Amino acid sequence: MELQRTIKYEADRVKGFGREIMSVPGCEQLESCIQCGTCSGVCPLSIYMDYSPRQIMAMTRSDFKKEVLSSYTIWLCASCYDCTVECPRKIRITDIMYELKQRAIREGYDPKGFATPALARSFYQMVHENGRVTESTLVVRMLLKSGLSNAIKTGLGMWRLGLNLIKTGRFSLKPETIRRKEELAKMMEIADQAEIDHLNGNGSPKAPAGSAHAPAKH
Ligand code: SF4
Ligand code: SF4
Repeated sequence: MELQRTIKYEADRVKGFGREIMSVPGCEQLESCIQCGTCSGVCPLSIYMDYSPRQIMAMTRSDFKKEVLSSYTIWLCASCYDCTVECPRKIRITDIMYELKQRAIREGYDPKGFATPALARSFYQMVHENGRVTESTLVVRMLLKSGLSNAIKTGLGMWRLGLNLIKTGRFSLKPETIRRKEELAKMMEIADQAEIDHLNGNGSPKAPAGSAHAPAKH
């Protein structure tokens, strides 16, 4: 068995990471977290997470970039907003989770072989290419990106659900697209550039959520 260090050192921190996250509109309140744990207590998924939402807030603020961005927690967050509603400091925890997901994908920290980031990547790519999502293609791409053994296991486990969705017209097989795709491509290019400018500290406004390599908010 491989031994792993479990305590953290000062040198593990990436100075400025917490500040960067707190500079994003909507994430500023993180500064005032009192570590009460209400977010972890109300989160229906915290029992499956490697770090609880409270821990993620503390680690983000304390610059533990690698640990936060490579955690499963941010991908297990189901965006139910329970934590955001209950937080006594009005911290927008769900939105912070979105920001962390975007950073994880952009900087390559997302756990490989895990379905949720693979879905986010495929979703963005399809919207970028066609302006629409074709569910069947999306699922196939997601399964392939999450690893062959996962793909086979999930595919076999969900074929009946897939069949029912096709029968009820909820799972399109026909490729969907929009007209004037080049205009969409131009808009996305501008949004991507705005995001890059923001990250480089050029004072540009933040690109809208769902732009450059960002998992959509839903
Ligand atoms: S509920 Fe709010 S204040 Fe309490 S630990 Fe969570 S983020 Fe911090
Ligand atoms: S939004 Fe995410 S972190 Fe917050 S309670 Fe829901 S699942 Fe948990």
